[in-house]
Amino acid sequence: MRGLRTLQGRVFAVLFALSLVVVLAVTVAITSASFSSYESEAEELLLSQTSTCAHEIEGKSASEACRTLEEMPFVNTRCTLVAEDGTVLYDNFADPASMDNHSEREEIVTARESGRVTVMRRSQTLGSDTLYAAVQLDSGMILRLAETRASLASFLGSMSTQLAVSLFAIIVISFLVARLLTRMIVRPLREIDLKSEGEESIAGAYEELRPLLRRIDAQRRELEDKNAELERAVVQRREFTGNVSHEMKSPLQVISGYAELMENGMVAPEDVPRFANLIHRESDSMRALIDDVLVLSRLDERADETRDMVSLSQACQRVANRLEAAAQEKGIAIRLELDEEVIVLGSEPLVEQMVYNLVDNAIKYNQRGGVACVAVANLDGNAVLTVDDDGPGVPEDLRDRVFERFYRVDTSRTRADGESGGTGLGLAIVKHAAGTLGGMVSVEESPLGGARFKIVLPASQMDSN
Ligand code: ADP
Repeated sequence: MRGLRTLQGRVFAVLFALSLVVVLAVTVAITSASFSSYESEAEELLLSQTSTCAHEIEGKSASEACRTLEEMPFVNTRCTLVAEDGTVLYDNFADPASMDNHSEREEIVTARESGRVTVMRRSQTLGSDTLYAAVQLDSGMILRLAETRASLASFLGSMSTQLAVSLFAIIVISFLVARLLTRMIVRPLREIDLKSEGEESIAGAYEELRPLLRRIDAQRRELEDKNAELERAVVQRREFTGNVSHEMKSPLQVISGYAELMENGMVAPEDVPRFANLIHRESDSMRALIDDVLVLSRLDERADETRDMVSLSQACQRVANRLEAAAQEKGIAIRLELDEEVIVLGSEPLVEQMVYNLVDNAIKYNQRGGVACVAVANLDGNAVLTVDDDGPGVPEDLRDRVFERFYRVDTSRTRADGESGGTGLGLAIVKHAAGTLGGMVSVEESPLGGARFKIVLPASQMDSN
């Protein structure tokens, strides 16, 4: 029964059965009520007929009474006159002499007790019932009238065709009604349109289903958003791969070009160190690019989600030490304002990389003799790192773009004296890392005149011991 597993099938079956039962019950109730009222009417009629006849023979002798009765025009009614001792005196259907004593008959006994009575004697076999009415006369004789009538079973039997027809009609009507109701109940379910947007899709739905539909709708949108995000990520990744290959090509071309010149003996011996230095620098920048690409792809894969307690102040101190030589080379002073112990949760190499990139930029994009100021503080429950410089700064309209991968501000202006520019990935790494650590990075104008890069991270409360 596959049909019963569907909502429609089940609703239909229940409604069909219900309407069948209801209609049948109503029909049976009406039929039996009308049959019993028909019977009691018949009883009354026969009793009053008996009383009228009794009235006719009241006060007459037995033989007179028999004569009077003989003259009465009974058709289907049996008329019997019984003497007080039960002897049958008269019967219009049989010879009284051949009839046995009636004193024990139910209707006779009861009539003797209560004067007048009706008794229905059901036949043992199907067919007919006999209705008796008996009235006792003043003389003690009892007048009895009897009528044979169709029993309920034979009454129904005689109507079997009509019964079959109406049963069939009941089934058909129940079927049609059940089908109509089922459609009405199921239609709002069928008409739910999950493709249309928001409230529109549940406008016609059942109240009870609305929370579910709203949830489905929300999940669908979530899924769409996720898909869009995934697609964006795929596009970004493809672009990134293209950019990486492009960025790798130029240093490789330089390297292989110079190497080829040297190989072919086209470089004067005194120029060899200069060419070797160029090759060295290009391979350095390639290595830097590869390092940055690796860091970024680790961040993309969320591989670096360690949650250690990392001292931001100590990370700044280590970065300052690492970059000391580079700063000195450009006559740049690194100032540290790390008067607090500021702790963040994350991976130490990542935190250090972030600080390194910012301080490195503050040196790289600064003019000779400038200053790079690194400050760390706890502010309103956040760990705040600021890296200031007094260089050219980042033009206001480019402040969002500098965090994009491979984005570099006009290199001729920012890149100091022939120094190779960065990979264009440094700030992208900073932004991504800050995000991974639950914070964010921004750039603004520094009070020193150059750029101020600020990272705000959720600070971890470490016991002060
Ligand atoms: P790169 O690896 O080339 O330094 P970044 O992503 O670190 O790339 O920086 C992107 C661009 O932002 C740089 O090309 C530079 O022009 C600009 N920039 C970064 N830091 C500074 C700074 N402190 N002062 C001025 N410009 C900066």
